[in-house]
Amino acid sequence: MAERMLQFVSLPQEMPEKRPAAERREDFGEIYRAFAVDHAERQASRCSQCGVPFCSIHCPLGNNIPDWLKLTAEDRLEEAYRLSAATNTFPEICGRICPQDRLCEGNCVIEKGFESVTIGAVEKFITETAFEKDWVKPRMPSRERAQSVGIVGAGPAGLAAAEWLRALGYQVHVYDRHDRIGGLMVYGIPSFKLEKDVLARRHALLAAQGIVFHLSTPIGSAAGETSFESLRETHDAVFVGTGVYRSREVSVPGSGLGGVVQALAFLTASNRRGYHETPGEDAILHAGDKHVVVIGGGDTAMDCVRTSIRQGARKVTCLYRRDRANMPGSIQEVKNAEEEGVEFAWLAAPEAFLGDGTVNAVRAHRMRLSLPDASGRQSVEAVPDSSFTIEADLVIKALGFDPEDLPGTWDAPELAVTRWGTLKVSPGRFETSIPGVFAGGDIVRGASLVVWAIRDGREAAAEMHQFLSAKESKSAEPATQ
Ligand code: SF4
Repeated sequence: MAERMLQFVSLPQEMPEKRPAAERREDFGEIYRAFAVDHAERQASRCSQCGVPFCSIHCPLGNNIPDWLKLTAEDRLEEAYRLSAATNTFPEICGRICPQDRLCEGNCVIEKGFESVTIGAVEKFITETAFEKDWVKPRMPSRERAQSVGIVGAGPAGLAAAEWLRALGYQVHVYDRHDRIGGLMVYGIPSFKLEKDVLARRHALLAAQGIVFHLSTPIGSAAGETSFESLRETHDAVFVGTGVYRSREVSVPGSGLGGVVQALAFLTASNRRGYHETPGEDAILHAGDKHVVVIGGGDTAMDCVRTSIRQGARKVTCLYRRDRANMPGSIQEVKNAEEEGVEFAWLAAPEAFLGDGTVNAVRAHRMRLSLPDASGRQSVEAVPDSSFTIEADLVIKALGFDPEDLPGTWDAPELAVTRWGTLKVSPGRFETSIPGVFAGGDIVRGASLVVWAIRDGREAAAEMHQFLSAKESKSAEPATQ
């Protein structure tokens, strides 16, 4: 069958058709159209079936990419789907939002000279085909177990842990402060990257699997909240996958002016509007007819600039203190943003937000990169006398997220944290300083990719299974005098 593969020599890389930028600016629909069957199968056939597949090695989930590409090329789509779903709770989500240019595709061996296999687009294609053909079923347990597990956080780590633990037969309860599952995937990521019915479809499958969701249920010690202690008493083990939600600040004069907002508040308001809900502070958190300045260079900043364009901003400028080559976000996202009309001010940082009560401009200065230090990292410094001003009615701060104070909020001082505020776990494992309490995803790693959170959920579930099995065996032992 080798002749069916290795087609990269004669067959060029082709992505699914991208909607024209002018059309994309008008709505919040996803920007790529679906692959046609023959198109996806031909693209999959470009894979050279490497003996040592760097695509899989660089996939946090270790997805068996060459094998499902081969099955796709052979039109064995159901088998391809089953193989891809075997390692991944959410292949339909990874196919859409993973930065493949930094992971599988960026490490594909034919990247050099021939352009990589379009792994993400094929993954999305086979999963969407599986949904269409009704091949996607809840991962039902083969036997029920009496032990129960409480999972705090319905983001990618919590949901992946929930799916695997439920498949093992545990009674799984997921608690989340929001009214919908998904964590940052539901209110943080815009629907032009991840349409929300994709999450609703997955929610229905997880519920059909027997997972019990307790939404709009914050954990904490305030009145009306469910206490962490009661959660530990109710369940045989607890998994914490709360993510990181505390927005980083920029400390320059004028930060408190009206119209200077946090990225998450802006994106949440936009996503709620997509659900036909009217968020509070509606006018402040809307970019329509405004001059918008977004501060930051990560994927959240890209989400903000592209959302602003779709809301009808007059002009959108992204201010980032390093250059294009050193930005943390996906290069593909920058290209998409540029096509849609966003302007980038590289090597520029805010000096002050100007205005009388409400912001009307950003004063910024130029930055320059130093020579790389021993670790290869270049620091940045302001260029003297380089100030300039940009008109702004809305300033969105997208500088990243830090963990909230969980031990304080949960009245659990014994829950150890690192100096960054992330939860401490045993090295290479998931158990926290409290026996029977496990954690994974961003609350352990710090802000990271969805795919890493999915992997943490999967691996933590395996460790929790060992813990719960040992606990059960111990309780079954006859008592000795
Ligand atoms: Fe195929 Fe590229 Fe993976 Fe090699 S690295 S197996 S060519 S997808």
